[in-house]
Amino acid sequence: MADVVLDKVTKRFDDGTIAVKEVDLQIADGEFVILVGPSGCGKSTLLNMIAGLEDISSGELRIGGQRVNDREPRERDIAMVFQSYALYPNMTVRENIAFPLKLAKIDKATIDKRVNDSAKLLELTELLDRRPANLSGGQRQRVAMGRAIVRSPQAFLMDEPLSNLDAKLRVQMRTVVARLQKQLGTTMVYVTHDQTEAMTLGDRVVVLRGGAVQQVGKPQALYDN
Ligand code: ADP
Ligand code: ADP
Repeated sequence: MADVVLDKVTKRFDDGTIAVKEVDLQIADGEFVILVGPSGCGKSTLLNMIAGLEDISSGELRIGGQRVNDREPRERDIAMVFQSYALYPNMTVRENIAFPLKLAKIDKATIDKRVNDSAKLLELTELLDRRPANLSGGQRQRVAMGRAIVRSPQAFLMDEPLSNLDAKLRVQMRTVVARLQKQLGTTMVYVTHDQTEAMTLGDRVVVLRGGAVQQVGKPQALYDN
């Protein structure tokens, strides 16, 4: 686990759009930060830069004290969960969750143990031999989370992970997310449109507007006024 520090991080796309503008943000080791703001304010771009899926135009990103601007996504030890689950349709749940460990050439016994531990944490043990087509939306999202946590990443990024679920499932999955973060103690950045998620899940809420940080505070303080 590690802290994540953004120091005047800016993203300028090739067409001149400045999606993220000199963002300063210090996320403590083990902290759960919620990122909110109107559509187009730069939330996804910010997460993508932390994950290494988008280049940083200027400024510095440090994870665990190390500058990582030029590191490949795989070398950043960060896991990301997307709104669209992005599971491999031809693989079983077990194979989906195991995949990042296989890529990392970890031995089979360790893979089996870690997949079973992750599945247990996410209540997926009974579903390990199914394929994604035979799972509900909530189950698929839990598999995506399992695939993310199985590597014990330094930080865990989630981009609107519950947006595709119906209201009832969202309530259930909020509990899963809260429990996951508590048990793993992983540094987490979580993007959402949902005010209830923003108020109940995180330690701190960051409000982005026009690519800049507009407000930072405890959930209660931000939503009380
Ligand atoms: P959010 O996630 O908050 O909805 P995004 O990070 O997706 O916002 O987008 C921030 C801004 O950057 C928007 O104005 C969007 O249109 C723009 N943008 C996103 N991706 C690109 C891109 N590849 N090229 C140019 N502009 C982009
Ligand atoms: P969200 O609001 O959920 O982030 P968007 O509709 O803003 O979704 O973006 C969806 C995808 O389109 C993203 O991959 C983003 O990078 C890309 N995108 C958004 N705006 C632009 C743009 N102006 N030019 C090119 N790509 C864009």
